[in-house]
Amino acid sequence: MYQKGRAWIELDIDNLAYNIRQFRKILSPKCAIMPAVKANAYGHGAVLIAKALQDLEIKDFCVASVNEAVELRKAGILGQILILGYTSPNQFSDLVKYNLTQTVVDYPYAKLLNDFGQVIFVHIGIDTGMHRLGERSENIKEVYKMWEFDNLKITGVYSHLCMSDGASDAERDITLKQIEEFNMVINFLHRKGIHHFKTHIQGSYGVLNYPALKFDYARLGIALYGVLSSPKDRIISNTKLKPVLSLKARIACVKQLHKGEALGYGLTYKAGKEMQIATVSVGYADGIPRELSNKGFVLINGQKAAIVGRVCMDQLMVDVTDIKGVSCGDETIFIGKSGNSEIMAADLADSINTISNEILSQLGSRLGRVSIKK
Ligand SMILES: *Cc1c(COP(=O)(O)O)cnc(C)c1O
Repeated sequence: MYQKGRAWIELDIDNLAYNIRQFRKILSPKCAIMPAVKANAYGHGAVLIAKALQDLEIKDFCVASVNEAVELRKAGILGQILILGYTSPNQFSDLVKYNLTQTVVDYPYAKLLNDFGQVIFVHIGIDTGMHRLGERSENIKEVYKMWEFDNLKITGVYSHLCMSDGASDAERDITLKQIEEFNMVINFLHRKGIHHFKTHIQGSYGVLNYPALKFDYARLGIALYGVLSSPKDRIISNTKLKPVLSLKARIACVKQLHKGEALGYGLTYKAGKEMQIATVSVGYADGIPRELSNKGFVLINGQKAAIVGRVCMDQLMVDVTDIKGVSCGDETIFIGKSGNSEIMAADLADSINTISNEILSQLGSRLGRVSIKK
């Protein structure tokens, strides 16, 4: 097991189990959770998270790329693994070899997959208004024609919502229209006698804001990790979630900064008084955004310490002048709880105008990942 070294992630598997229980409560009984473990499970560690979820009776998963899917298969994930994104034809052989399910991004891509000449499992993507991937919903005949491809084993049809986090009437209308378009495609296929395929359209906000929908899967990403994208998001179901990830790093040294001295690259922070500075062993190569330079803060023994100077690739400096007894080897918290204080990923993200999804998915491979189970 990884030892807590210079900087690491702690994963609270009990909180992950708690979140799964909350979602099972609000989802219709026939709707299975298909966790999105793409981007290294939003930085949490794909293999660790997928294995923990498999232990919690989760069978199927979705990822963005074929390489992510292969990593899970090699680690012993047995259920269906759906690739949500594009796979290049030179990797179609991996779809077969590892028994993966590929998204059909449009009709020409269905033909490309079929021409590979071996049976490939697919879910058909339907574009109901986001205009990213999927065959456009009005091209219903093209969708239907995909069943003529002998080498495609079509086991699912799905779409993706682009406004499901919006709480206004106008935003809800757009989502309801997307759902209506999706149902129209499903009903058309049913009328044509095609019944044996799974359906799904909800991601995290689709579930949190439209919990009553009755599709076969919910592709839960960010919320499964107990995190909202933004602290401003208001959700319809008052589901309480618990964050799975904490991000911690150790102090390498504590030193004086005299009044009038400056520190770090570019000497961007100047001491207006006698100060104590702690150098922390984590930087932007680990995923700490450089935008936090002279802006963010960390927690040490439950107290806030401001980031001073520029965030470096492997280190950053914090002001510990007012925190007593800080020394080399102490833990600093970037995301998570310390005493009675807590830094939430969404608040951190919001302070630099992004969403928690981006912050978490940038957390680097150099961080150790430790799972904690009480
Ligand atoms: C990433 C992704 C999800 C999961 O989204 P969250 O908002 O994190 O739950 C679901 N579906 C698709 C197609 C995705 O790309």
